[in-house]
Amino acid sequence: MTQFTRLAATAALMAASALALPAAAQPRTADPLKRGLQLTDFPRLVKLADNVYGYEEIRQPGFTTVSLVVVGRNGVLIADGQGNAQATQTMLDRIRTVTNIPVRWYVVGSDHGDHTAGNSVLPKDVTFLVHPASRAQLVRDSVAAVAANAQAAAEAAGRGAAAPPPRVVVVPPNAMTEAEQSVDVGGTTVRVLFLGRAHTGGDLMVQLPREKILFMSEAYLNRVFPAMRAAYPSEWVRTVDRALGMDVSRYVSGHGFIEEPAASREELVAFRQALVDVIAEVKRLHAMGLSADDAIKQANWGQYADWFIAGQQAPVAVQKVYEEIEGKLMPPPSALDVEGDRKLDELPYRPATETRRPKTHSR
Ligand SMILES: [Zn+2]
Repeated sequence: MTQFTRLAATAALMAASALALPAAAQPRTADPLKRGLQLTDFPRLVKLADNVYGYEEIRQPGFTTVSLVVVGRNGVLIADGQGNAQATQTMLDRIRTVTNIPVRWYVVGSDHGDHTAGNSVLPKDVTFLVHPASRAQLVRDSVAAVAANAQAAAEAAGRGAAAPPPRVVVVPPNAMTEAEQSVDVGGTTVRVLFLGRAHTGGDLMVQLPREKILFMSEAYLNRVFPAMRAAYPSEWVRTVDRALGMDVSRYVSGHGFIEEPAASREELVAFRQALVDVIAEVKRLHAMGLSADDAIKQANWGQYADWFIAGQQAPVAVQKVYEEIEGKLMPPPSALDVEGDRKLDELPYRPATETRRPKTHSR
């Protein structure tokens, strides 16, 4: 590049960046309107690297659910779906606008319904990657759905009405047996990792080492109050620490916005602090001898009171941290009924980037 073209390129870059909101001024919030976006801007594919996209779709009550899409020569890999068949179909249709290569892999980052309830529209021959604890949860959800469908059909018949559309829970045939598995999508190295329990107990992440991207699913909720219904609060903090210790430049959350690289780390650090502060506040209330109900009334959540769904999730967090303090936290559901889970949980954490992990984060 000549000096002149370099200058011209610099000027063009400056002009382009003047149009975009500087990263520092980007409001840190999960609220689309406060970010200057309209709900009609969604769903959208956000290009993260060559052949790598994040997919942001709005769910109730108005924040994003994020999926990861990796386009390989051998097939497309998706991590996490959306909350119903129509929403997941819309995502598949949107992926078709960037590639005709078929979807061949699906990673269950979170087994919760807002990410899995649309999985019935995935290709029938898709290969699932799922932690045994999440597979066990999906088995239970499937059994519950069959019973609920039968009851709904019987009630409809009693009214002389047609049965409502059944709820379908797709159960992956096999679970992972190791804490790390590579997928040969063709052209992009993809690692599926279990870094420890967090939001569900079966939390999987997807690492793209060359692109330095880590999709964390619901282990990372960007400006969303720590949602703990199925969580392991203290282990969650350690799991985030392992992620922060990896050679990653862009962390992608399961809810809340996909951030630019520097902000993505800052926000992950902020989310880790939210976990720590919420746990500390509940421990303070517990130490005062309060019942969980009284603790919910007296809690002071500080800045986190403004985070998305705080009103709904704060009482859940109190209950869950009380369970942890009192030793009542349930073991991961799969430990009892799925072979391989113990093995997975007892494996020492050793990602390929271990050497870059600060010592303080070792187990
Ligand atoms: Zn979710």
